[in-house]
Amino acid sequence: MKFRLLSALSIGIVATALALPHQDSVTPLKGSDRPDVKGYEEFACFRTSVGYFFSKHPERSSRLVGEIDRGAKAFQRFFGKRPERGVVVEVDEGTTYDAKALEAAKLGWHFPALAANPTKLAEETPRMETHYRNFYKERYPNLTEARLEAAVKKAMADFTRSSLDHGINIIAHELGHQWFEAFYGSGSRPPSRKAKVYGSPGEDYLDECAAILMEPEGDTKNRWADLRKTMANPELRTRLKPLAVLVVMEHPELDPKTAGNTTRAGDTNFYAQCRALCDFLIERTKNERIFAEIASASVAGKGFADWLREKGNGYSLPLQVDSLDREWQAWIAEKLKTPADKLSR
Ligand SMILES: [Zn+2]
Repeated sequence: MKFRLLSALSIGIVATALALPHQDSVTPLKGSDRPDVKGYEEFACFRTSVGYFFSKHPERSSRLVGEIDRGAKAFQRFFGKRPERGVVVEVDEGTTYDAKALEAAKLGWHFPALAANPTKLAEETPRMETHYRNFYKERYPNLTEARLEAAVKKAMADFTRSSLDHGINIIAHELGHQWFEAFYGSGSRPPSRKAKVYGSPGEDYLDECAAILMEPEGDTKNRWADLRKTMANPELRTRLKPLAVLVVMEHPELDPKTAGNTTRAGDTNFYAQCRALCDFLIERTKNERIFAEIASASVAGKGFADWLREKGNGYSLPLQVDSLDREWQAWIAEKLKTPADKLSR
């Protein structure tokens, strides 16, 4: 069992947490309805559309279960398959994640979701306050003291809410990675993918696109905002990858030059470019399940360039990756002409 939490952590903690649609509160399972998992007797257990959810924070459960269920629907929509069943366990600093007990219970895959972390939030609050105050002062030098304080207060309220909701906001993304692996089955990795370590045996951009397609609307907006920011900055812009590189590159999370780096421009760009590729290919091919098709080709050992050469005609796409890249860039430029608040998927 892999703990692939890092990737979504780099989404950025200040991501705007849009209010999720209201969910009816979920009821904990009791008696024989409840699966036996040794050591998890203290946890409340809830049913999800793809298995079970264990938590010690029942006040968050309806929203977490809501996000798991929404993610499962998104997977069905974009990949034409029901995700396999499994268990999500909400973990915090005080929780031991007992993979052996979860495996022994034979409930399918298991995955740790992050609980809210008030200690970390309290630690980061002073730093973020200073950050926002400096940011507004620099950006709007003529702001009155009262307006400056109001802006900082508002930014901090968003920061607090999105920090506390972090585990909820990223769960569908993380499960997208989990579910996507099923495409490749449990068989051995093809020789070309032997060295690969991130996620499924599929190409890293494909793995990330699968996860990104599960994200809530608010994250889509943030990805596009990231891309807009990068495009507007000549220095950052040079770090965007050509399509031919994006579809074969290793996940920047694993690149020693950028991993653990606080600026993480490489990461941000990778996620933003994957988002833009998802939206472009779905719109251009008018096929919401285009990534399922590309993934099936990948399972057969065919990379993006092979898939494009074989299937491009059917979608009136150019057959060369570089030509498609030019179309993609033009499409992005056109899309970014729309003001940010009007952009939607
Ligand atoms: Zn990811």
